[in-house]
Amino acid sequence: MARVVVIGAGVSGLSTAEFLSDDHDVVVLEAGPRIGGSITTDVHDGFVFNRGANGWLDDEPAVGRLLERLGLTPLKHLPGPRYVVKDQALVELPGGPGAFLTSPILPLMGRLRVFCEPFMPTGPNDESVAQYARRRVGQAALDGLVGPMVSGVWAGDPRALSVTAAFPKMKKMEREHGSIFGYMRANKGKTPAQLQSLPGGTGDLPDAIAQRVEVRTGVRVTGVTPGWTVETTEGSMQADAVVMAAPADAARQLLAPLDPELGGRLGAIPHAAVAVVSLGLPRGSWCPEGFGALVPRSEPLGVLGVLFTGSTWEGSCPDDGFGLRCILGGALNPMQAGLDPQELLAIAMRDVRTLLGDVPDPTVHQVVKHPRGIPQYTIGHLSREVGIREREDTWPGLFLVGSYLGGPAVKSCIANGERMADEVRAWLA
Ligand SMILES: Cc1cc2nc3c(=O)[nH]c(=O)nc-3n(C[C@H](O)[C@H](O)[C@H](O)COP(=O)(O)OP(=O)(O)OC[C@H]3O[C@@H](n4cnc5c(N)ncnc54)[C@H](O)[C@@H]3O)c2cc1C
Repeated sequence: MARVVVIGAGVSGLSTAEFLSDDHDVVVLEAGPRIGGSITTDVHDGFVFNRGANGWLDDEPAVGRLLERLGLTPLKHLPGPRYVVKDQALVELPGGPGAFLTSPILPLMGRLRVFCEPFMPTGPNDESVAQYARRRVGQAALDGLVGPMVSGVWAGDPRALSVTAAFPKMKKMEREHGSIFGYMRANKGKTPAQLQSLPGGTGDLPDAIAQRVEVRTGVRVTGVTPGWTVETTEGSMQADAVVMAAPADAARQLLAPLDPELGGRLGAIPHAAVAVVSLGLPRGSWCPEGFGALVPRSEPLGVLGVLFTGSTWEGSCPDDGFGLRCILGGALNPMQAGLDPQELLAIAMRDVRTLLGDVPDPTVHQVVKHPRGIPQYTIGHLSREVGIREREDTWPGLFLVGSYLGGPAVKSCIANGERMADEVRAWLA
């Protein structure tokens, strides 16, 4: 049986390993003490704190196939409103065009401008999210709606991110339906993608894979040489194929000695630093309903968003408790994510009190910093991916997968892992 060494036990590497494991001898090497990478969960006094990803969308068939293989039943999020912050208060996101027209979410002229969207011209192949949004829905919607959404998904800067790479569906709406409204008309009645997780938090997913494939934690890969030899802190290993599933910067360090050009291309992908402050609080009349709130940059708040985990995930907190999760930092405020944990906690508490009123002190909390949290698919990203794939093709038996290629969302990492497993299998056949 051919031996495949996978470097990195995040969801990309673990999914690849799981989809390969039926007919290959697979071992996953993980530098850190635990598996999961950006998907790990801690439980403190009955509060489920996801250190990174909070869930994934259910519209990717590969996710269903993976969960089925693992015998896992997804946890659906509880129904409830979503909010955007305006003037330091929560404003519910309207459910349809009628409600949008009368909602205070944007100034009247901003709302009317959104309804001109079907008459706006199609843009160039690659442009920033800000250029796309300004043209299609206007400046007010960019500032009040699109900007917060970009923060929520990418912790990113709409002026830097490529709409084609970061929001391919938005570009497709314009190309295939002429407008966002045209797409909505064509898809009327269809249920939009829903967020899902697992009863014990997102970390249940890597844990379940690690029950089935061999994962060695605390083993840092220090080099790879064609043939393939994998050098690690625990000695060297031979492999028929190597799947590099470490983040872009770690992959750069390992591959630059072999292929400086590939190293340069991997190093050209910027990342946004983020911090996650999870709060376990006493339940009370202050507890909000719904999913959470995103914050436009014009608001005088520090957090990018607050998720109401206590009303999103059943069983995520004790009966007398309520969980909140604040995201800080991001591409527009990179220094903030590096602040001291106590300072991050203080900003989070100040902001949740501004938004939710008389919130008591947390009984338990956790601050997790992700210095290279989310890869930023800036303008030109798709060409950078092509450049990386070109170099990868010159090294038979070396395969690259990870959140910096083909989408950082958990569902994309799983889909790319499944595709990568097929590629490795085909190459080894
Ligand atoms: C705070 C945060 C919130 C997020 N929220 C969501 C969300 O709600 N929904 C969603 O869909 N996505 C979310 N994402 C994105 C998603 O979680 C990530 O893009 C995805 O988990 C990345 O998986 P990965 O396997 O590609 O990389 P990683 O998770 O980074 O895993 C790579 C692994 O490689 C290991 N490694 C590095 N170097 C070496 C080496 N030399 N030797 C061996 N191992 C090595 C690392 O230790 C790490 O464990 C979030 C991301 C962050 C940071």
